[in-house]
Amino acid sequence: MAKKIKQIAIYGKGGIGKSTTTSNLSAALSELGLKVMQFGCDPKSDSTNTLRDGRYIPTVLDTLREKSTVKAQDVIFEGYNGIYCVEAGGPSPGVGCAGRGIITAVELFKQQKVFEALDLDIVIYDVLGDVVCGGFAVPIREGIAEHVFTVSSSDFMSIYASNNLFKGIQKYSNSGGALLGGVIANSMGTPYSREIIDDFVAKTQTQVIEYIPRSVTVTQSELQGKTTIEAAPTSAQANIYRSLARKIAEHTESKTPSPLEISELRAWAAKWGDYLLEVEQGKVTSQGQAI
Ligand code: ADP
Ligand code: MG
Repeated sequence: MAKKIKQIAIYGKGGIGKSTTTSNLSAALSELGLKVMQFGCDPKSDSTNTLRDGRYIPTVLDTLREKSTVKAQDVIFEGYNGIYCVEAGGPSPGVGCAGRGIITAVELFKQQKVFEALDLDIVIYDVLGDVVCGGFAVPIREGIAEHVFTVSSSDFMSIYASNNLFKGIQKYSNSGGALLGGVIANSMGTPYSREIIDDFVAKTQTQVIEYIPRSVTVTQSELQGKTTIEAAPTSAQANIYRSLARKIAEHTESKTPSPLEISELRAWAAKWGDYLLEVEQGKVTSQGQAI
């Protein structure tokens, strides 16, 4: 019997660290001996950049615009440690649905049975989480990805995007859609970032799968066009990405989250806002006790 290919999707607000986290995750999974494909589904098309020394690859949509028939081999490029890199791409500026690249690329690979032919262990979709059209929901809705993770910092807009994603997951959860594996808490280190994320996951009945600090090592690696796993393999940050990779490799049980209504989310955020203000004004201690 053919082995089961694990397919996961990483969502999150633009600029929150999805591609950075996904590329380090792919690199760490490849170190575990797994055959990995990273599938960039952001019209920005820079998902796999640091797996290829800062070089960009032609996207599926660009290639389709040039040639009438495209073979999967034309759009799959090898990256760090044998990772297969794909970028779905986006429409011409101002034209069409930005999610079309995902639909087209997924269809192409399905027809040509690419995942089976490459004998993959894991496919990771890196998807823009400010879900604006149906295309971005494809990995969830069609159940292509089995497990979804969201990258979020403790900033409100990022939590807001995650909460919207939870609504999408909940909506398709009864019709074979993907379920939520948890939150990858990124850019930790600012005051109360952990507490805020912990409170949000408790309220929405999910979990933090890994806390990833904001780190200058990540910046340095990116400037060299590499993942931290490749550029700084012995760093503490690389070990955190390895820990994330182990958890995701072993992850089996995803769940339907309980997103907050927008009014609840606002009230929740306002409570944290008031609290942080009181801390700043010295009205409560950092342990939360009133002075
Ligand atoms: P996205 O894919 O969500 O749009 P990126 O992965 O491109 O976001 O990250 C945006 C910027 O944030 C990049 O310059 C990246 O290096 C930086 N970044 C992401 N995570 C971290 C981190 N943990 N520490 C430092 N910089 C980070
Ligand atoms: Mg990205």
